[in-house]
Amino acid sequence: MLLDATLLIQDIQLLCFTIVFGVLAMQRWSDRVRRWLWYSFLANTMGATLDILGHHMPAWFGNGINEEMIPLSYALLNVSLVYFNRRSRRPIWISVLILAAGLPFFLAWSSSPNRIPSNTLADLLIALVCMVTAELLFNSREKSTRAPRLLMGLFLAFFVAVELARVWVVFVRHVDPDAAGSRLAIVSVVTYIVNVSLLPLAYVWMIQARQEWELVQQSMIDPLTGVLNRRGLEQTLDRELARNHRFGDELTVAMLDLDHFKNLNDQYGHAVGDTILMSVAQLIAAQLRGTDVIGRFGGEEFVLLFPNADLDQSGPVLERLCEILREETSLLPSIDIRVTASFGATSLRGRRGVTAAALLNEADIALYRAKANGRDRVCFF
Ligand code: GH3
Ligand code: MG
Ligand code: MG
Repeated sequence: MLLDATLLIQDIQLLCFTIVFGVLAMQRWSDRVRRWLWYSFLANTMGATLDILGHHMPAWFGNGINEEMIPLSYALLNVSLVYFNRRSRRPIWISVLILAAGLPFFLAWSSSPNRIPSNTLADLLIALVCMVTAELLFNSREKSTRAPRLLMGLFLAFFVAVELARVWVVFVRHVDPDAAGSRLAIVSVVTYIVNVSLLPLAYVWMIQARQEWELVQQSMIDPLTGVLNRRGLEQTLDRELARNHRFGDELTVAMLDLDHFKNLNDQYGHAVGDTILMSVAQLIAAQLRGTDVIGRFGGEEFVLLFPNADLDQSGPVLERLCEILREETSLLPSIDIRVTASFGATSLRGRRGVTAAALLNEADIALYRAKANGRDRVCFF
């Protein structure tokens, strides 16, 4: 009675999620994560429908194929997760193998009046496929989706334990795991209900967490050059200054401005100017260390940050960048156009509590001097 009532609640929940995920998938059909998530819930709903109508159908279908529906729904969830993780497809093949191994048994036992062996094998397949799901959830270093992954992964680990306990009860103790009043039956029912509610919500949370993170990233990247934009630059500079405030770390801030860029635009057009800006940003970025930062401050001005470096250390790097730019001949694929830049740099020199605006102003003053002294050079504040 308890089991029947909870199964009905679950079936209704599943149907609701299937409708929502169907709409979500249709809104962006090209998104394989959403599409396979929907297929997963469709399989689950199909299983629920066969549970209700199965006895009107041939036994091989109503009892045989039906038993594959829930393990299949987790296998389809694994496909969705593989696409979400953007990694190897091996978990898909492992899931398919697990399903394929169970099918002959389900078909052979489909006419048997005793459903316990079939149900137990289904529990075993669900546990195995869910182990793959949990592995897919745990085996990722993506920070933005960590909380929903952990939540789903830990719950699935518990779910697997419950399913294995059911298998153990049947094969070792030879009793029905769903016997009325048994503790395992109650734990199973509660676990199934939580599962049907928690898994889809956490999955949507995971998708949304990544989208939010990607949007924040995009809002800090300059679309033309692919380096940080002014917002990203200011955030990074603030973070470096907070580190300086706390630990007294050194920091160099340099500003560079391309020389006579307006003439270049006038002569070759803005599109060529844009391509050069892109090439210059990539050229400089390629020269920097992993901890150094480049961002587009505006127009044809870039800011460079060298954490843990004073002017004695960053000065030679800036001189080299100035020289590399002067000598670069392939900023454009077709024409040999050369550009030079003027650099102005300042560093913290042991000062604490200096603001970002003050540092940028110092770099700008040094840059102005580089322009006044004939351009194509590095000046220090
Ligand atoms: P200098 O800095 O050496 O004094 O001369 P300049 O000609 O580079 O200086 P100015 O600041 O007067 O002009 C900057 C020019 O950069 C103006 C504008 O045409 C160009 N510029 C700014 N942003 C972009 C951009 O996104 N794309 C292109 N193609 N040009 C840009
Ligand atoms: Mg300028
Ligand atoms: Mg300029």
